[in-house]
Amino acid sequence: MEKEVCTAVVLAGGSGKRMGTKVHKQYLLMGGKPVLYYSLKAFQDSGMIDEIVLVTGKGEEEYCRNEIVDKYNLTKVKKIVPGGNERYESVWNGIERLPDYGYIYIHDGARPFVDDEIISRAYKCVTEEKACAAGMPAKDTIKVVDENGTVTDTPDRSRLWTVQTPQVFDAGLIRRAYSMLMKKEKISVTDDAMVVEQMLEHPVKMFFGSYANIKITTPEDLKIAEVFLKK
Ligand code: C5P
Repeated sequence: MEKEVCTAVVLAGGSGKRMGTKVHKQYLLMGGKPVLYYSLKAFQDSGMIDEIVLVTGKGEEEYCRNEIVDKYNLTKVKKIVPGGNERYESVWNGIERLPDYGYIYIHDGARPFVDDEIISRAYKCVTEEKACAAGMPAKDTIKVVDENGTVTDTPDRSRLWTVQTPQVFDAGLIRRAYSMLMKKEKISVTDDAMVVEQMLEHPVKMFFGSYANIKITTPEDLKIAEVFLKK
């Protein structure tokens, strides 16, 4: 069977407040190269991926083109577009002009340990299910708390996964879900699967990412990342 066209939308917008540095987390150096480089490189090197759309912070397009895309010869990056104030706005900026055919991988640029195995597992899953998200079974017990921090529920851990990216969708389906979302007045979403679940009530299948597929969010993460990189 012929492979469908796959586009990766790699997100590098946002301010990285939780990192507490002036440099956004996706541009911090890891082994001498920006975190974002590793995320882009995984998609560049994957035979599954035809094209990459890079969504940057506002006004950071030139920086990304010169210092990352051209510098490291990431030839699959065909478009560099500015992001929005919230992650979902950045996603929309990345996907709104993409065609309605094929599959779209949405990936956090701050997750540098995505690899070819994850990208391939995602392809298999999306061809079967149309909507899927990388994740891993929760290692910790998770508590639900009220506004005072008092536990209100302890869900069965065997049913809990922590969600990662890439999250991968049929292109028409994710465009439809996001265009519905963008018409809403109050929006509170933290990942793409949630948009598909809520706007279209379409099922989303989880597939195995990896425990190394961490998001670089706080300074501790960067230290862990250096250890993974040495391996
Ligand atoms: O802030 P958070 O950790 O949820 O960010 C996840 C990913 O989304 C990061 O790669 C970040 O660059 C991206 N993002 C974005 N536009 C925003 C906020 C976050 O592209 N407004």
